[in-house]
Amino acid sequence: KKCGPRAMYSIYNLRRDQSMVREKYLEDVMEDAIKGSEFKVYLQPKVDVHTNQIVGAEALVRWITMKNEIISPVEFIPLFEKNGFIIELDLFVFEEVCKMIRKWIDEDKKIVKISINLSAHHFENTNFIKDYENIIQKYNVPSKYLEFEFTESAINEHVELISGIVKQIHDIGMTCSVDDFGSGYSSLNRIKDIQVDTLKIDRVFLLMNEENKQRGQSVIKSIIELARNLEMTTVVEGVENEEQLNMLKELNCDFIQGYYFYKPLAQEQFEEAVNKKSCN
Ligand code: C2E
Ligand code: CA
Ligand code: CA
Ligand code: CA
Repeated sequence: KKCGPRAMYSIYNLRRDQSMVREKYLEDVMEDAIKGSEFKVYLQPKVDVHTNQIVGAEALVRWITMKNEIISPVEFIPLFEKNGFIIELDLFVFEEVCKMIRKWIDEDKKIVKISINLSAHHFENTNFIKDYENIIQKYNVPSKYLEFEFTESAINEHVELISGIVKQIHDIGMTCSVDDFGSGYSSLNRIKDIQVDTLKIDRVFLLMNEENKQRGQSVIKSIIELARNLEMTTVVEGVENEEQLNMLKELNCDFIQGYYFYKPLAQEQFEEAVNKKSCN
């Protein structure tokens, strides 16, 4: 019945309390969850715009609880970024990916490069790359099959460190990709000083409404041109329909990732998709 400011205030408080209870709960169970294999690594294919072939994939983590509840990364990643657990989770995802690649090598299956998300928190430890290198060695996986994705805002937070980090990544034979590129309010110009291999263009530029569509396309076009001049590869994420695909073909981007072709797939379905595509 009550709709005055006081009632609104208490609804706000209630919601805040509920989300704090939820966060507390997730923090209480996260350690057991990682030990109990509740985190699963899904793979979303990246497709070559011109050949429609799967050329790679991004590893995306899912939390599937014992009760079969699926918790979205949109909920737990920001929490783990806040409490630092993201370091452990990123390493876990990387190890799961190395296991998969090891299996594909042993079974003589087709292998495509897998990108793994790297939280900016890793950059606070100057020696972080060693932990990753140890996992690569444990599974004896050729590092050319592995790529890191870190965001444009991670670069902005660690401007002085980033060139050294990219060098360390290259020194162990991996490549790197700038995730959510274009959304971080940094100048397009700055990227030329960082030797990254791929620009992953943020999905927001595909989401423009009718009147701003042209502007979104112009941004995508200039990022693709910049990348070509700097000999970087481009990936556009969040492609959902044929109209977007045709536009991106025309702009000559390299790869696309999005629901139009594939959602993130469980390992088994991913293997099916890769091996089907390679036969035709
Ligand atoms: P992101 O790295 O930008 O990943 C892309 C997100 O967009 C994924 O959401 C993916 O499922 C979704 N997506 C892909 N194609 C489409 C499409 O066509 N339309 C729409 N609407 N969405 C699409 P997801 O899996 O929920 O992950 C959300 C975010 O969580 C990721 O954004 C990433 O920032 C973070 N994340 C996920 N896994 C990891 C991880 O292992 N480590 C770290 N540090 N972050 C992760
Ligand atoms: Ca990503
Ligand atoms: Ca992204
Ligand atoms: Ca994004």
